[in-house]
Parts: sequence; structure tokens; C-alpha cells
Amino acid sequence: MFRAATCPWWDMVSYISYPYNLWRDIKRNECFRLPDPTPPEPPVLPQTPLYPSLTTNLPHPIMAFRDFSFPPSTPLYPPASTVLEYLNAYAKAFGVAKHIQLNTEVESIQFVRPADEKEGKWNIITRNTGTDATQDHLGVDTLILANGRHNLPHFPSATTNPETSPGPTPQLPGLTQWLESGHASHAMYYRSPLEEYRGRIVLVVGDGPSARDIAPEIASVAKQVWRSIRKYALPKLEAHELGDSTNVSNRLTQSSSMNDELPIRICSPIASLGSPGGTSSKEREPNVFLIDGNALVVDYVVFATGYELSFPFFSDDVLERHDDDFHQDSDILKRNRFDAPLSLYPQSLSPLLYHLLPSSPRLALGSLFVLGLPRPVIPFPLVQAQCHLLTATLQGRSQLQQLLQSKYGDKERGTFDGGNIDPRTTTRPQILSRSYHLFTSPYNQFDYRELLIELSLPFTDESAIQVETEYMVPKWQRRVREKNDALRETWRDLERRGRAEETVRNVGSGKGGEAEWVELMEGLVKL
Ligand SMILES: Cc1cc2nc3c(=O)[nH]c(=O)nc-3n(C[C@H](O)[C@H](O)[C@H](O)COP(=O)(O)OP(=O)(O)OC[C@H]3O[C@@H](n4cnc5c(N)ncnc54)[C@H](O)[C@@H]3O)c2cc1C
Repeated sequence: MFRAATCPWWDMVSYISYPYNLWRDIKRNECFRLPDPTPPEPPVLPQTPLYPSLTTNLPHPIMAFRDFSFPPSTPLYPPASTVLEYLNAYAKAFGVAKHIQLNTEVESIQFVRPADEKEGKWNIITRNTGTDATQDHLGVDTLILANGRHNLPHFPSATTNPETSPGPTPQLPGLTQWLESGHASHAMYYRSPLEEYRGRIVLVVGDGPSARDIAPEIASVAKQVWRSIRKYALPKLEAHELGDSTNVSNRLTQSSSMNDELPIRICSPIASLGSPGGTSSKEREPNVFLIDGNALVVDYVVFATGYELSFPFFSDDVLERHDDDFHQDSDILKRNRFDAPLSLYPQSLSPLLYHLLPSSPRLALGSLFVLGLPRPVIPFPLVQAQCHLLTATLQGRSQLQQLLQSKYGDKERGTFDGGNIDPRTTTRPQILSRSYHLFTSPYNQFDYRELLIELSLPFTDESAIQVETEYMVPKWQRRVREKNDALRETWRDLERRGRAEETVRNVGSGKGGEAEWVELMEGLVKL
């Protein structure tokens, strides 16, 4: 995760398709494994949020690294175990494994500036998770953070108006009681539709991929599943209707979008939680109160409400930590020479140029890179593009140095410079931390990838055209991303009819390679 003496992505041999016999070897010689399907009890955090039934939510041809395809005949939306095989194969093909020290946790990272040195260095302590032995790594020049963004569960806060209630947002009322009494948990702990959901009324909070996957699974055993989503608000009930729970459930049933096969109903966000517990019965009082004034009787709440960024290893002089969801002015723009160079909010690390490089004058260009923060994105090729710029910067051949020196503040900087905040047009005094790394259009990520590749090229370089064709975003990727929902539905239908396997049989095995997959996907949804 740290030390960038070499980066796995530069000067690699390009593998557009992958020899089958190497895949056979990989299965015998794995370097990474799927975690134990039984998560620990809260508050101990599981190693991963992956659950056994998880399949990808993107077709693998757009999900793959640009220089390494999934093997022929891979199901279009493969299970997590296939992605694991893919990553193991990648590590083997490019000799990555030998650079990785497993079972090693980074415990602390300090920034030091020796008296005789112009630039600072990183002192890092790691701990072997098996033996508990620690190791010092002193004087590290370059730190690359790639510790992921799914390590720390995020729970919704109380609904407040930032104009009238500035400062840290209070916790959702009642949340602690539900969590501590075992009547609520986070999607990070979800593994399968457990017996504890059978015949019960379950509320799944969230509208992301996890909530959309988990709710139907729970609905297959539960009595009723509600899904609370931010953008949904029912008409507020009149005062005289509120006391009557029949009124409430009738109104909700009429207004919600029902899935024909599964008992899932949509409702608005939670305002507060009442008393947890008890068994389901018609006589029970509502115990979940929604912001639109409605209320529900609920046995169990699953918060599929995303994750917070977490960098627990940084010392305070590097990272200033904030609990509230709102950036203040000084953090959106620039940290000055006397501040900690980075500010951490629940869902943003700032200020970062291109979501990647600290802009603080305290950290020299090339001393720190942070990978994989933008969302929602197709992560593998996006991080690969980030690594192109990272590599070029370390090798002193990117346009970045010149750009930062000569064009800082000019219109060429575009909107990706300081997260999604453009300092020249921002007039709002506060901004939600979750907006900082958010790509509001699905196409932003492709533009961003291309920008990174362009920035990683020297101004005059004959090889630029070659790199451009290999790593730039092919047009079909934008088309496939646009039709992903329809494609996934078509794929699920093929699976239901037992036709999925034959549909992908031998696709990708011929000379066409990637083009065969494109043809298949275009045929399935007439892109
Ligand atoms: C439920 C779910 C479904 C998803 N589905 C898809 C999908 O279909 N397609 C897709 O492309 N993406 C999907 N994603 C996203 C994808 O998993 C991530 O974007 C991707 O894993 C990011 O890779 P990463 O290496 O940046 O982070 P991670 O995969 O999170 O890896 C970070 C690593 O850093 C390690 N680490 C953390 N702290 C420390 C420390 N202090 N010391 C040492 N190591 C540390 C962690 O243990 C972990 O191994 C999904 C994510 C989730 C949660």
C-alpha cells in the first residue's frame, strides 16, 4: 500500500487477452483470498463488505483493466470469486505479487522534514497481523494510499438544515439503541438472508447497489421489506391521520412502487427511530418515523448507507479530522503553509488536485498520491489511469509539473482540479463532503480517465498516439455504461432461462478478443 519505488502498471507487457493455461496455474497458486463468510460481531469490523451472492454490477469487459481481459466464456456479470481469480491472474501476469507483503497493517504514518533536507519524508510503522511484530520504514519518499473506501460504515445523520443549524450534524435519534440492542446493522455485516429476517418486517436504508441487491434477498424470507431512499418523500399526513396506523400503511402501500414478485415497498428517509424490539403484530405502535411524517412498524433495520473514508494511521499534523458532513471554505480551496496539509471529512479527503494529489505547499509534488476516491465509477480502469499519471509524475515526464507551475488558476484546469469544487465559481460557504469526489454524470469518469492519460503524456512525444489508442476510453465503453441497466436485466433473464452459459461460450477466445465481447453486448441490448 505504500512505497512507490516501482509501480506495477508502467512498462508492463500489454495483455489484451490472456492465455488460458495461465488461468489454470493461478487457481493452484493464489495470492489473495475471499474472506471468511462469517463476519465478526460489531463493533469489530469485517475485513470486507462482500457477501456470498455478490455478482458484479458491471459487465466485465468494461470493468477490466485496459490491458488485461477476463478469460473467454466468463459470465458477463461474474461472481466475486471470478473477480478474485482475475485479480490473482493479473498479479501473476505482471509480477505484482512479489511486491505485496500480505498480513501487514500500516499502523502509523508520520511526515518528517530532516533539518538537512529540502523535502519531507514519511516514517511508517507496519505490524504483522500474525505475529504482532512491528517494523519501521524510515525516510520513505513517496506514499501511495490505496486503502480503499469501504472500510468504515457510514450511518445517516439527523436531518438538519445547514443554513439554520451550522456545525457538526447530530446523530440520527435512536440509532445507538437500535445498533446496541442488535435490531440494526450495517450492510458491511450482511452475508446472506439469515433466519433472523424470516417472517419479520425489515427496513433497508439506501439506494445504492448494496441496498438494491440486499433488499430482494431479504424479501425472499421476510414478511415485508421497506426500502428508505433519500429522493422519495410521500405527501405528509394530516394531523388527524397520524394516530391511525391503518391510514399510514394504506397511504404507503398506495404510493409506493411495488415489485410484482417481492414484497418491497419504498419509503422516505428516517427522521428518528423509536423503541426497537418486540414481535411483529398489528397492534404494535410505529417505531420508525420518516421525514415525510409517516411512520412504520419495523423489526430490523439494515443501513446500506455507504462508507466513510478512513485514514487512522495519519498523525494530526498531516490530517485534520472533521466529524460533520460539511466542508468549510478554507478546506475546499487550499490548506496554507501552516495548516495540516489534508482535511478529512466523512466522505472526502481535501484539497486534492484531480482527486489524486495534495495541493498543499507542505507536500512536494510526488510525495503523496491517493488512489480510488472518485465515485461512482468503474474502479479498475479508473485507478489504472490514475497510476499512469502517478508514474509519469514520479518519472518526471508528465505535463503536471508544467501545468501546476504555469497554468494554475487558468481555465484549462477544468472541474476535476479540486475535487468537484471549482474555486472560481463556488459561492456557497459550505458544501457536502459527499459531493467532493462525486461524479454527477456517469460520463465524467470517462472524461476524467482521458484527462489523466493526457496529463501523463509529455507535451511532445511520438509515442503519445500509441498510448492514446491503448489506454484511452474506447467509444463502446460509454455506450455500454449507458445501457448497463438494460444489459444486466437481459443477462438476468438469460440466467433465469438457463441460457447464460451458452450465450458467452467461447466468446473472447478467437482473434477478435475484446471485440467479440463488444459484439455480444451490442447484440444483447442493441446499443
Ligand atoms: C458490495 C460491493 C460491490 C461492488 N461491486 C463492484 C463491481 O461489480 N464492479 C467493480 O468494478 N467494483 C465493485 N465494487 C467496488 C470495488 O470493490 C472497489 O472499488 C475496489 O475494491 C477498490 O479497490 P481498492 O484497491 O481501491 O480498495 P479495496 O479493494 O478496498 O482494497 C483496499 C485494501 O487496503 C487494505 N487496507 C486498509 N487499511 C489498511 C492498513 N492500515 N494497512 C494495510 N492495508 C490496509 C484493505 O485490507 C484492502 O485489502 C464493489 C464494492 C462493494 C463494497
